[in-house]
Amino acid sequence: MAQKKGRVFSGARPTGRQHLGNYLGAIKNYVALQDDYDCVYCIVDLHALTTLDTTLEIRENTYEMALDWLAAGIRPEETIMFIQSHVPQVTELHLLLSMVTPLGKLTDLPTFKEKARMQPHNINYGLVGYPVLMAADILLYKADIVPVGIDQASHVEFTREIARSFNYRYKTDTLKEPQVKHTEIPKVIGTDGQNKMSKSLDNHIELALTPQETVQRVMTMVTDPQRKTRQDPGNPDVCNVFSMHKIFSSPQEVEMVNIECRRAGIGCVDCKKLFAKNLNTSLEPFRSRRNELAKNPQDIWDILHDGARRASQIAKVTLQEARQAIGLPD
Ligand code: SF4
Repeated sequence: MAQKKGRVFSGARPTGRQHLGNYLGAIKNYVALQDDYDCVYCIVDLHALTTLDTTLEIRENTYEMALDWLAAGIRPEETIMFIQSHVPQVTELHLLLSMVTPLGKLTDLPTFKEKARMQPHNINYGLVGYPVLMAADILLYKADIVPVGIDQASHVEFTREIARSFNYRYKTDTLKEPQVKHTEIPKVIGTDGQNKMSKSLDNHIELALTPQETVQRVMTMVTDPQRKTRQDPGNPDVCNVFSMHKIFSSPQEVEMVNIECRRAGIGCVDCKKLFAKNLNTSLEPFRSRRNELAKNPQDIWDILHDGARRASQIAKVTLQEARQAIGLPD
């Protein structure tokens, strides 16, 4: 096996069954990174607590998300895949890091202000400390690389600042400053044709739908709003169905739609049917793996627990080094 280039860390909140936006925006990249890096992928259940009004579904959502990651191609025999709260060292490192993080800096962050605006009824302490917990996740596992879209690079820069502050304050090099790996993260638009695909907006297409359900969902997709009838020419450049064709259809089909749409040679119904067919073909291996994995739910939990065991081995060393650097008694 080729020498890996370093360790990647990434985390995602447990949001249950994954949709096309999750797949194209994150999971596909997670799978690809495994070829070149030692990967540590974390389901960040503690982060989720900062914004959840109810935790009733957190266990189920964690399971469903893990199932989708595995079905999509995460290889647990090489990749460490685990649940954040199963490695409690992250909470201790979070506290230690909080001592070198100015409060004003946290409350000034645009992400904090945005979240506070979104949930004025619940501006909790965890919300303020969110970036510190995120830094603890990354630094605990001594990640070399954090894959992020351009707009999220500031989160990693914040982590680097915290690592520098800690190392400077305690005259150590314990915490490794991670590098950003800029990733092309496509903005996947939902079935409403306007907003980013998201569960909360109910404009999503789940990966695990049946083929028939997928067709039904695709049929609800908003197309070129100017195209009122089958006889009107359409404009694929403003149509989300066409964007999806570019990802899931053959070059010949994309070319055909591009030409025929503009001269009303193809109707939106047929165009969507073609996309749905290609999407179903593309998702077929994922679905059959998912069905197979779902036969033994305990296997999924075992994989997550084994991941936590392996993650703990790294975490314990980093935390011990951090405690020693500070001078906390053994
Ligand atoms: Fe969009 Fe296809 Fe309809 Fe053209 S024919 S507007 S690309 S759905």
